[in-house]
Amino acid sequence: MICIGNHVSVSDGYLEMGKHEAALGGDTFAFFPRNPRGGGSKAVSPEETAALRAFLEAHGFGPLVVHGAYTMNVCAARPEVRANSEEMLRDDLRKLQALPGNFYNFHPGSHVGQGAAEGVRLAAEALSRVIRSVEGSCGKPLQNRILLETMAGKGSEIGGRFEELRAILDQTADLLGLQGQAPLGVCLDTCHVWDGGYDIAADLDGVLAEFDRVIGLDKLCAVHLNDSKNDCGSRKDRHEKLGRGRIGAEALRAVVRHPLLQGLPFILETPNEDEGYRQEIALVRSWAV
Ligand SMILES: [Zn+2]
Ligand SMILES: [Zn+2]
Repeated sequence: MICIGNHVSVSDGYLEMGKHEAALGGDTFAFFPRNPRGGGSKAVSPEETAALRAFLEAHGFGPLVVHGAYTMNVCAARPEVRANSEEMLRDDLRKLQALPGNFYNFHPGSHVGQGAAEGVRLAAEALSRVIRSVEGSCGKPLQNRILLETMAGKGSEIGGRFEELRAILDQTADLLGLQGQAPLGVCLDTCHVWDGGYDIAADLDGVLAEFDRVIGLDKLCAVHLNDSKNDCGSRKDRHEKLGRGRIGAEALRAVVRHPLLQGLPFILETPNEDEGYRQEIALVRSWAV
């Protein structure tokens, strides 16, 4: 069994997100705590958070996969962009301390000509500072695991190779003195890994074995289930609705049914109308084992 859901809007409040997703047939969801294109985020009252938590529990939801804003780039070349991104990350995670047991996924960023090794270093430094700061200001450990998303590797994106994600995990753990036990994991985006050159259609077992070898399957916490408009290795990052892209329905069905991925939250990210999401969730449920 997997949990399945889609991106929902936070604009009508926390509880409405749960109600909306339940009406679509989902039992997990993703949301942006702030405008995904940047900008501020509204304060959330303890009552609102408590109401959502009670709703999710009553309706048997699995963990949510919150998504950091697309505009964040903790490894940017410009210091002011890095500082601003780090502040967004800190603010999101501090706010989510009231919604424990979920995941917070974000894009590791683009090194913008500084080289992947420098991008990895900057990302790990930012993460370690943010984790320390949130834990310090809240007086308790981080309540939600931070996930690095597998990326397509377009432009100077880091996270297009599993090795880069592993390096961020390791360096963050080292900076925190945690010997590999940092509160971090990975979210596997099917469109991104495909576009990044990992052929999940021809050899899903091989890609998961490579993930296990390089990162470790114990770090795999969530899946973004998207088809791709482009060929494997294109490094483009253009999502497509399930079964209408180059990955195809058969391969995505195998992902949903794979024994190593059972129990994880799966998030549909390709923009859709409510009815489209309802149909895609029903389709994924018909595939699930
Ligand atoms: Zn993403
Ligand atoms: Zn994604």
